[in-house]
Amino acid sequence: METITCQRCHTINIATNSFCKSCDHPLSKSLAKKKGRFLSFLVVTLMVLIIFSIGALIYVDVQHPTYGLRSRLHIVWDVLFEKEWLEKYSNLKKFENNLNNEKETINIEKGKLKNELQILDEKKEKWKKVTDKLDTLQKKLDILDKLKK
Ligand SMILES: [Zn+2]
Repeated sequence: METITCQRCHTINIATNSFCKSCDHPLSKSLAKKKGRFLSFLVVTLMVLIIFSIGALIYVDVQHPTYGLRSRLHIVWDVLFEKEWLEKYSNLKKFENNLNNEKETINIEKGKLKNELQILDEKKEKWKKVTDKLDTLQKKLDILDKLKK
């Protein structure tokens, strides 16, 4: 028959007992059970977390290839081969310079357009004044016509 020793008084009990027969102390069998349950819970939780993480990694890899694990590993790969890395880096520098130049020309053009817009606004105002004058003149002419009749 399986036995279990009481942790408090060291009496040997039958394994099926929940409490010690001499001191009523709960037998460690239940504690071991709880421990086992906790451990299996921990293992399951860890597995779920690992599976979830792998799923997330694969998801990002598929949905956003540029930010995915594969491209990251590719970058690491390039760093390992210094020559390629330097070449790529200089290309990036060139690319950055080109972009900066383009930005500057766009800004200059923007400034020019802004000036033109200002001129157009001024012309619009003049146009409005002229048409207003024309309107009042036309009204005066209409009145004159009526007076003639
Ligand atoms: Zn006991």
